[in-house]
Amino acid sequence: MRKNNLKIKDKEIQYFLRRSSRAKNIRLTVNQKGQLIATLPWIARKKTLENFIFKKSSWIFKKINEVKNMKPGLLDRGDRKDYFKNKQRAYDLVKEKLEKYNRFYNFSYRKIYIRNQKTRWGSCSSMGNLNFNWRIVLLDEVYADYLIVHELCHLKQLNHSKKFWALVQRTIPRYKILRKEMKDI
Ligand SMILES: [Zn+2]
Repeated sequence: MRKNNLKIKDKEIQYFLRRSSRAKNIRLTVNQKGQLIATLPWIARKKTLENFIFKKSSWIFKKINEVKNMKPGLLDRGDRKDYFKNKQRAYDLVKEKLEKYNRFYNFSYRKIYIRNQKTRWGSCSSMGNLNFNWRIVLLDEVYADYLIVHELCHLKQLNHSKKFWALVQRTIPRYKILRKEMKDI
């Protein structure tokens, strides 16, 4: 990947350029190190990309700031060894809780994956797979429950809309407080 610099107003944005023959559109992502990665279709011009970055600059600065200000917490704990040591335990815990809450919701999901990520507790894919961070075993049970229900409800609503939170609330009435507290974990 080539490193590039772009001046926007008084700020400078550094980005890494990746050309892809499969990409149909320009894609911008900010990785865990706070670096901006731009994926560009093979034939697109660099000027087009720079205009795009310019248009998205407030989003980019916000994203980079978020990554840089992430507080060290539970998500920073443990390493690969701990991941392999706790993976099965995390899987069993997730499976048990999913089954318990899904007796209420009755949604259908495909696979459960236990991951070793530093930035997120869980996610739900559009394919219906559920991903959880192995560190869920380190959480107090109330937070683990909230996390499970959160991802479970994404099966129905793949967003954070009012409808989504209404679903969460049906089994986790205190979700607002828990969500706020989780950010400080
Ligand atoms: Zn969510």
